[in-house]
Amino acid sequence: MNKIKELIDKICVGYDADLEELESLIALERSEVTYLFEASDKARMQYCGNEVQVRAIIEFSNYCRCLCAYCGLNAENKTVARYRMSVEEIVENAKEAIEAGYRTLVLQSGEDQWYTREMICTIVKEIKKIDDVAITLSMGERSYEDYKAFKEVGADRYLIKHETADEELYNSLHPHSSFKNRVQCLKLLKELGFQTGSGFMIGIPGQTYRTIAKDIMLLKEIGVHMAGIGPFIPHPLTPLKDASTGSTFNTLKAVAVARLVLKDAMLPATTSLGVVDSKSKNLVFSTGANVIMQKVEPYKYRRLYDIYPKPLGHELTIKEERKKLDDFILSCGREIGASRGDHGKLLGQF
Ligand code: SAH
Repeated sequence: MNKIKELIDKICVGYDADLEELESLIALERSEVTYLFEASDKARMQYCGNEVQVRAIIEFSNYCRCLCAYCGLNAENKTVARYRMSVEEIVENAKEAIEAGYRTLVLQSGEDQWYTREMICTIVKEIKKIDDVAITLSMGERSYEDYKAFKEVGADRYLIKHETADEELYNSLHPHSSFKNRVQCLKLLKELGFQTGSGFMIGIPGQTYRTIAKDIMLLKEIGVHMAGIGPFIPHPLTPLKDASTGSTFNTLKAVAVARLVLKDAMLPATTSLGVVDSKSKNLVFSTGANVIMQKVEPYKYRRLYDIYPKPLGHELTIKEERKKLDDFILSCGREIGASRGDHGKLLGQF
């Protein structure tokens, strides 16, 4: 255990741990994680402060051309009813979220080429006219020209998870694309000046502790500003329907190690973690997480954005849900981020 403590202390003061060392942290048992969790909580406080940053997410289309083996929206799922929100509907939805106090809007969808470059640019420009809010796009792989145009009209951030750093596993789960292309997208987005988010799933079949260590190394190598780490949840209409749900304990450890390695990155308590185990959603705020996202699109669409099975709960208004979210953050002993919550500006740095 002393060796583990030494390793954690060294990482905290800037040591670049190698793959085996990171794996040794990811493999810790329940009786061995106290020091890791305390260190990651301290690092979160040091680099991000006590605020939890809140984001409103609009899942605006569930059409998808991809064949991701884990995702309920994959193109081969013919039973899910597909929807697309119009440009006007998206902007109106964003306006309501801004009125409810959100300063960041995440626009997420399947890979849906129906939305042209021009349409996405219009959406970004129209939302920016409402207020000085940050816009994150999460629409998968698009061309360099598209990404460039989105940036030029004011999109601030782009989220595209690498899903798994095991290239062979990645390629087998994504027959429509390749690991190299995914990583290339992340690099281009960074070059274009986006605050760039990646991330990966915990418990995807074929993953080992070493894969998770590799995932964290890759996040560091790319230099991501944000990383979403959440458990895999099997969807009954996918090839992985019989696989087990990802472990919440492994998720907590991965977030903790990511916090130590990535220092000031934005790390959300992912929605999938809350779905698998709502208590762990509290816990992850004491092991490194500093961001939370709340769906805001109308319930008739939420039901259909079926990437994995999840309870939807009572239908509430955007304002009521925001109040619930704020209460949850306060109940975790944390403050509510009131700014846009940009990477690198959390502690008043400019
Ligand atoms: N089309 C966009 C958005 C994908 S959905 C893109 O390609 O980036 C957002 C995230 O949901 C995915 O990146 C993936 O990590 C996660 N996801 C999808 N299916 C999942 C499942 N069954 N369990 C857990 N997470 C899943």
